[in-house]
Amino acid sequence: MKILLEKEALHDGVARLANEIEQAFEGRQLTIVGVLTGSVVLMADIIRLIDQPMRVGVIQASSYRGATTQRSDLMINSELMIDITGRDVLLVDDIFDTGHTLTRVIQKMQEFKPNSIRSAVLLQKEGRAEVDCAPDFVAFTVPDEFVVGYGLDYEDMYRNLPYLAALEPADLEKHATQATPFST
Ligand code: 5GP
Ligand code: MG
Repeated sequence: MKILLEKEALHDGVARLANEIEQAFEGRQLTIVGVLTGSVVLMADIIRLIDQPMRVGVIQASSYRGATTQRSDLMINSELMIDITGRDVLLVDDIFDTGHTLTRVIQKMQEFKPNSIRSAVLLQKEGRAEVDCAPDFVAFTVPDEFVVGYGLDYEDMYRNLPYLAALEPADLEKHATQATPFST
């Protein structure tokens, strides 16, 4: 693996992100919803950096692992989510790649009739977007590589790394395909 962002640089970017969010939501009651599981590390840091009253909740996006994965396999589970009706919501995810995950999660959340939904991500991959919408707040732009750490996984591993790293092609050898859903 090669390191893309050291712990200190990562924390500086997260602090900038929290600051932007704080200014954008100044004077309003904020409801932050994190997409499981990739957002948990960013969520834990960001909610403690935003110095204003807020509600905190989660929503789950999951998919099927393996070479045959189709985007239509994406499942959104809102059963764990807090009440967002009439609220100003900030959706938080780890990475905006093609953008389909965030778009689908936002569609699902619209069913609960929030007052507004904005989105924040730690990372956006360069030149990969396949949807019209873009995240409102982005901490870092990264090249088109498979990144892990600070919440991002490869087969459920590496989420706990305090830095951000890119896996090399040799690290990405295909493992046995599993038919079980995994949390994004
Ligand atoms: P999208 O739907 O925007 O194409 O992909 C978003 C989801 O795919 C993220 O929430 C994340 O779970 C996963 N993903 C996309 N790119 C990467 C990456 O480089 N590394 C990791 N670990 N996950 C990624
Ligand atoms: Mg993932």
